[in-house]
Amino acid sequence: MRFAKYDKARMLKETDRVECEGQLGSSLYFKVYSGDKVYQVSFRGPKKQWLCDCQYFVIKAKTCSHVLACKLWIKEHGLPPAKPTG
Ligand SMILES: [Zn+2]
Repeated sequence: MRFAKYDKARMLKETDRVECEGQLGSSLYFKVYSGDKVYQVSFRGPKKQWLCDCQYFVIKAKTCSHVLACKLWIKEHGLPPAKPTG
């Protein structure tokens, strides 16, 4: 069974698989729970670049469902609060 990328992203967000870790500087950090795996997704503010450590992202260098799920999360919840420093 194969999900289209966007359908999977929506499913991940709607089943609360996206956990926001917060904002550090201008970067955002998320964890996405998919199956028995946890993916680290981050948005690097200075370069305005999304990163994910899944194979799809690393090999294809394309936006994966985990990054899309985080984007959907931001659409719904807004930007996460900044982490306190120190
Ligand atoms: Zn990914």
